[in-house]
Amino acid sequence: MDNKIFQELVHAYHEKKLAHAFLIETNDKEKCYQTILHFLKVLNCPNDYQENCKNCNLCHLIETHSLPSLLTIYPDGQNIKKEQIVELKRAFQTKPVFSKYNMYILMDAEYLNSASANTMLKFLEEPEEYIIGFFITNNKENVLDTIKSRCQILLDYYDYDATTDIPLEYFQMAISYALEIETVHNEALLYNRETLLPLLKDKKDAFWLFNSLLRIYENLYQVSLNIEELDTEFERFKFLLKKDSSYFFQKIQLILDILDKLNYNLNISLVLDRFVLEVGE
Ligand SMILES: [Zn+2]
Repeated sequence: MDNKIFQELVHAYHEKKLAHAFLIETNDKEKCYQTILHFLKVLNCPNDYQENCKNCNLCHLIETHSLPSLLTIYPDGQNIKKEQIVELKRAFQTKPVFSKYNMYILMDAEYLNSASANTMLKFLEEPEEYIIGFFITNNKENVLDTIKSRCQILLDYYDYDATTDIPLEYFQMAISYALEIETVHNEALLYNRETLLPLLKDKKDAFWLFNSLLRIYENLYQVSLNIEELDTEFERFKFLLKKDSSYFFQKIQLILDILDKLNYNLNISLVLDRFVLEVGE
């Protein structure tokens, strides 16, 4: 998992510098929640945790939300109520039996009111070794200071799936790249190494680039089927329109496959070379 806060948490754990409470600001609470569950498996798995541990009961219980020492709290109506926190404290009075930690994840931390936040304070001020908590919010500025000041603050932002707002620079990059591939294909491997690779600092950059390429070829495909007009920004690909629609369709399939592979394969250089080799077939 390449998620940044996941890496940070695992690192802190291995360094034995794990805080006991985190406030995480995120733009995708569901993904953030999954990231935390993933980390909690690492934290508790009695085996040397590997990606998707299927062997142990503990990971399974975390996955299926049935571990008694892991509690998720959601707002009850307009607030997270004091009673919910009292209940949490009661549940966590004793050390966990099966897992290393008692763990809570509090969704929508901005819904803590002063009564419930105050009830929370003892938890945060005199933390037990075996308790760890996560407060999740979409805006940390809306979380009460009493909570904020006692948590380690992390940011957890996701933009991998946002194909709608591709930054302009990636479009420019993709247009140049596609022109290179379509005109001087035999030099494209060199182009990968010398021009493109230095621009792609991480997987996200490659992700945007291939999403931009996808847009270009999708537009060309639609034009070849007389469904759409050629986008003005793709004028320079007009010369390709004498090709059959299957020409574009195959490229779309390849790009989709590469986007899928990007989720696993960290080596951008290999991904680029594969694209060039297969796109020419
Ligand atoms: Zn496990």
